Amino acid sequence: MSEDLLIYEKSRSGRTGFSLPASVANDKPVDSFIPASFLRERKAELPEVPESEMVRHYIELSTRNHHIDRGFYPLGSCTMKYNPKVNDYAAGLPGFAQLHPLAGDENSQGALELMYNLGDSLARLTGFERSTLQPVAGAQCELIGLLLIRAALEKRGDARKHVIIPDSAHGTNPASVIMAGYEVRQVKSTQEGILSANDVAAMVDGDTAAIMITNPNTLGLFEAEIEKIARVVHDAGGMLYMDGANLNALLGQARPADMGYDVVHFNLHKTFSTPHGGGGPGAGALAVTGELVPFLPRPTVEKEGDRYYLDYDREESIGQIHSFYGNFGNLVRAYTYIRQLGAKGLRRVSENAVLNANYLMNLLKDKFELPHDRICQHEFVLSGIRQKKRGVRTLDIAKRLLDFDFHSPTIYFPLIVNEAIMIEPTETESKETLDRFAGVMLDIDREIDDNPESVREAPHSTPVRRLDEVLATKQLDVNFKG
Ligand SMILES: *Cc1c(COP(=O)(O)O)cnc(C)c1O
Repeated sequence: MSEDLLIYEKSRSGRTGFSLPASVANDKPVDSFIPASFLRERKAELPEVPESEMVRHYIELSTRNHHIDRGFYPLGSCTMKYNPKVNDYAAGLPGFAQLHPLAGDENSQGALELMYNLGDSLARLTGFERSTLQPVAGAQCELIGLLLIRAALEKRGDARKHVIIPDSAHGTNPASVIMAGYEVRQVKSTQEGILSANDVAAMVDGDTAAIMITNPNTLGLFEAEIEKIARVVHDAGGMLYMDGANLNALLGQARPADMGYDVVHFNLHKTFSTPHGGGGPGAGALAVTGELVPFLPRPTVEKEGDRYYLDYDREESIGQIHSFYGNFGNLVRAYTYIRQLGAKGLRRVSENAVLNANYLMNLLKDKFELPHDRICQHEFVLSGIRQKKRGVRTLDIAKRLLDFDFHSPTIYFPLIVNEAIMIEPTETESKETLDRFAGVMLDIDREIDDNPESVREAPHSTPVRRLDEVLATKQLDVNFKG
């Protein structure tokens, strides 16, 4: 690692990293054509370094943290798959990247066509009528989906009071329920790690607005009773919301609409390979049944003949929920991903995601407790309880992995598994990478007997060691202190 200097400390007066065309640089001084009121009084304090120094500086910084272009990132429930570079190429095409959001329908036909086709692909993949691309995160999708349900129920004459959520749910689910003005009712998962239709039936009544179910659930297991659950909830006049943040196991295999859901959300920044997790803004989408279409956020993208336009004139819409039309650059990336793979390719994504997860699960399950020992979907959840009995916590194992250039799996979630280690390898990793990761996990397990301190004190090789994560979140201080 090179010396720890800030880019300002690397600066030397007079060094430049740019060259401007002669007409601007020399021919005419800028103050001859820019009004004085727009000119700086003092020179901008910018570092003066050649391009080569600047590139090295940022490449160096980029290796200080872990990211998907550096190595394996098995963060469960986050689908850290490789983001193909062709997505960035497409998003960078000047017709997309330089398009002004207020350019008007006539000047934005290509962008509108892309949004129309992407929305259509997502609706068809999941079996629904229409979709919206405005939400910019999974959590925002949840809130909007619940508001759509509320609007539809109000139109029927009864908004109702509560939403049922399983105990394996992602934390954003209950938060969204509260924000949408509902109360949370929690239903327990069975010993098998899935929901029982009987348990749900015992909880559903005339005040049930909806049930939110992640499928496959956060244990990586398919909710096998989903059709029965859908009947129970629909018969009582409620609706079904699917948290589809991670659709990696379902692409081309099964459609949420066929399972009985009324709404599904997508995290384009998970399943559809757009960057996330410090790597860029997210993008969500929601697909809905015909009953919910009138309430979708405005504007919607519509097609008339071969012309596309934005429709703001939607009386029953819950309104606009994001500036302009969503995170357009990420919509281009997701569309590129879908078009490049096609229907067959998407099916292979899910086949390989499930295969990789099961392969890795089988390499690890002898040494690490596997509370739900059955075929998993795109991810699986181990428990570190055996290791804890030997004096090392799941947190320590997660930290030790960093020394081997792996990102840690998700830990201590879902809450219903003690010392949870939630692993999602994704389809973009090779057998060799999975073998290497499993080998390191087994080495760490042996190290617990040979040298437990080394695990408890890890990481040893990262730029910083153990951080006070609570303090770091509460008192964010990103200043460099040399
Ligand atoms: C990631 C995730 C969410 C939240 O998505 P964000 O884009 O982070 O808001 C919701 N549910 C599940 C199951 C998830 O994995």
